Amino acid sequence: MGLLITGGAGYIGSHTCVELLNAGYHIVIVDNFSNSKPESLNRIRRITGKDFTFYNVDLLDKDGLESIFYENEIEAVMHFAGLKSVGESVALPLRYYLNNITGTLNLCEVMKEHGVKQLVFSSSATVYGNPDSVPIDEGFTLGATNPYGRTKQMIEEILSDLFHSDNEWSIALLRYFNPIGAHKSGLIGEDPNGIPNNLMPFISQVAVGKRYELNVFGDNYPSRDGTGVRDYIHVVDLAIGHIKALKKVLETKGVDAYNLGTGIGYSVLEMIKNFEKVSGRKIPCKIVDPRPGDIGICYANPVKAKEELGWIAYRGIEEMCEDTWRWQINNPNGYEEHANLTITNNNIIQEV
Ligand code: NAD
Ligand code: UDP
Repeated sequence: MGLLITGGAGYIGSHTCVELLNAGYHIVIVDNFSNSKPESLNRIRRITGKDFTFYNVDLLDKDGLESIFYENEIEAVMHFAGLKSVGESVALPLRYYLNNITGTLNLCEVMKEHGVKQLVFSSSATVYGNPDSVPIDEGFTLGATNPYGRTKQMIEEILSDLFHSDNEWSIALLRYFNPIGAHKSGLIGEDPNGIPNNLMPFISQVAVGKRYELNVFGDNYPSRDGTGVRDYIHVVDLAIGHIKALKKVLETKGVDAYNLGTGIGYSVLEMIKNFEKVSGRKIPCKIVDPRPGDIGICYANPVKAKEELGWIAYRGIEEMCEDTWRWQINNPNGYEEHANLTITNNNIIQEV
């Protein structure tokens, strides 16, 4: 019996695949590399010393998906595959609705045809929109404010309807807060295309000299220093959260949403300070206008995940920054280069 991991070549998917393989699970990955590189799969194999089956299939290709279910005995699915850029979703809403929603509908139809009804879904804290208060708990009213967030909110509703139509389904909706960091090996990490939209990849590209300075979007929020606050969570803690959620969906029936966050918020200036400390590099920055549509302060109440999944995030902010930096310094151009390089004892990549 195996697990199907959609989007397993991506940032969060690749880290989860490592944890799953290390925990002894048999996995099948499907990805169309629309936002990832084949090299990430080599790195997963290298870290774990284990192999897996891979399909280069688009979730929009339902026949391709069906053949995966015919050729493998799939017991449950972790569904990471999706487009995730807020700004791009505003410019290209149809692409986002088609990819994220139709991709998920295809997946669920094929799962249903094959009697596979266990699903762990990558949702997002963006479904909460601009919350009335913090910390945010799962009972808050949802109100995504952009097409990307609305795809997540709609998929949550579709999956809830699916469970209500057939109580044999078991679905965990994991609402991630702000995943950062990388695997300790420095071999896998976040590899954004072009100019990063998110804070952490931007800071680390400034630190490594790829970008000149960081724009800090606004300093007039009701936070300690006026800059925006987020709940940053180490991607390995997030990956482990998926294993806990998987156990829950394999053991019980139902549809449930869980916040995966630390419950602690850090401001932009605090993140810069932490990153400067671990990297020993100065991060030049300037305050600019707030980013349109940004929310000020956002952090999770993660108690439900603790009580019902037995999960908490252990890794602190310093470790998140250290691991991001190790990945960045070892892979200044992400997965693009280094396909034939080796790693020394202290995790520095050298040519062979
Ligand atoms: P990512 O882009 O690194 O990974 C997503 C993967 O899915 C990529 O490898 C991409 O090639 C693949 N993919 C996309 N559409 C596909 C399709 N139609 N068919 C097959 N493969 C497809 O993103 P990530 O950061 O690893 O995020 C994983 C999931 O978590 C996404 O659904 C994202 O929306 C969600 N999420 C991410 C964050 C974050 O900050 N990274 C926060 C909240 C939620
Ligand atoms: N941010 C910033 N400069 C950047 C990118 C982000 O000041 O170049 C701020 C942003 O306004 C927010 C925080 O950093 O307060 C986290 O932003 P990110 O895009 O990483 O996450 P999101 O806003 O989607 O939660």
